[in-house]
Amino acid sequence: MTATSPTETLPQADVGVVTGPSELTRATLPESEIPTHWYNLLPDLPEPLPPHLHPATKDPVGPEDLAPLFPAGLIAQEVSSERFIEIPEPVREIYRLWRPSPLYRARRLERALGTPARIYYKYEGVSPVGSHKPNTAVAQAYYNHLDGVSRITTETGAGQWGSALSMACALFGMTCEVWQVAASYASKPYRRMMIETYGSSIHSSPSELTQAGRALRARFPDTTGSLGMAVSEAVEAAASDPSTRYALGSVLNHVMLHQTVIGEETLAQLAMFGEEQADVVFGCAGGGSNLAGLTFPLLRENLAGRTTSRLVAVEPAACPSLTAGRYEYDHGDVAGLTPLMKMYTLGRDFVPDPIHAGGLRYHAMSPMVSHIVNLGLMEAMAVDQDEAFAAGVTFARTEGLIPAPESTHAVAGAIREANACTESGTERSILIGLSGNGVLDLPSYQDYLSQQPGADAEAER
Ligand SMILES: *Cc1c(COP(=O)(O)O)cnc(C)c1O
Repeated sequence: MTATSPTETLPQADVGVVTGPSELTRATLPESEIPTHWYNLLPDLPEPLPPHLHPATKDPVGPEDLAPLFPAGLIAQEVSSERFIEIPEPVREIYRLWRPSPLYRARRLERALGTPARIYYKYEGVSPVGSHKPNTAVAQAYYNHLDGVSRITTETGAGQWGSALSMACALFGMTCEVWQVAASYASKPYRRMMIETYGSSIHSSPSELTQAGRALRARFPDTTGSLGMAVSEAVEAAASDPSTRYALGSVLNHVMLHQTVIGEETLAQLAMFGEEQADVVFGCAGGGSNLAGLTFPLLRENLAGRTTSRLVAVEPAACPSLTAGRYEYDHGDVAGLTPLMKMYTLGRDFVPDPIHAGGLRYHAMSPMVSHIVNLGLMEAMAVDQDEAFAAGVTFARTEGLIPAPESTHAVAGAIREANACTESGTERSILIGLSGNGVLDLPSYQDYLSQQPGADAEAER
């Protein structure tokens, strides 16, 4: 166990002479370098993505099947064969509030680990809500607004997606109604308050407000909820009201598409550091969107023969869809209302233990991410919660930044790789997708710290 206890001496970085391809620590791009297009991996896939199927007929879903749930612009993107899709100007205008996001070289972490590896992190916590999720929330709110929609329903786990979509809705003069997994609703009040501050409303799921919620409460009276249950409630609420649409913060192809601004910026920023490529890339994987956003543009470069980056999905051992799930058609929700999608899944009834990384508690994985893992174009690994938090603490004590509990999984993968570089004496460039900030998740760090040997008796009680 590599955990650093609170009473141990902190890993202090040497204040030595910095060496390496460049002295840069934080690569920032000007606003003019915000990508003008999202990158669509679908047409570049060596084998086509298995289509989503209608839940009743089992035929491939057509635009008319999705119309009750999603606006036309997003339905077109879900199956588009265009490689580059222009980002509408109103969306880019909002992206300017925090994009381009910075790429850092983690020099102090490198020195603390004593590794010959060069470690970088692309930081998405600079958005107003502290995660990558507004990259798609703003786009989804925009296309709904274009279609005259005034209300959007959605689900949220730890609250990052609900807060991102509520912000995006506020910016377009709309509201949203959020169903939050019961375990998080009880234990994580601050994003609920953010959602209300943005003018949206939020319910604990399963709730009494929908048929699906009432049925789930009858069947599982003590349930802590799950994303799959909350999806059922939000989908039902949208499908039964013509002025309302539904939005999903991960999993679907159009969400992966919107997140590719992360990887496009990263390619330009790695070049600023003098790197020809990131040799190994780690992203945490819940539904797959921050990972896809970072890696799909890099995979394009791999497929074109220009780079040889190893891409690694890091998931929690408590919810291991890629490393222990089956690759088969499953629903995205518990009630079976969503289309069937071919993906790595633990089964739609799977309720993971209430781990702290609430954003990674989904029973399945994006069909696009699943497909490229199945084709061998991406690897997957699982880390347990203690290893993830130990990595988050090491990161905080060297880089200063406290990563979101989800992001600590990617940091843990990178630290394993950096230590392997130390053992073999190999220099390698390692890239971390740092999907969000952990300041609103500090109670989870507190839980972790209080369980470490050396924590004082007061904290253990
Ligand atoms: C939601 C969330 C995740 C997990 O979702 P993905 O779609 O897998 O990216 C990861 N990190 C943060 C900070 C999140 O908010």
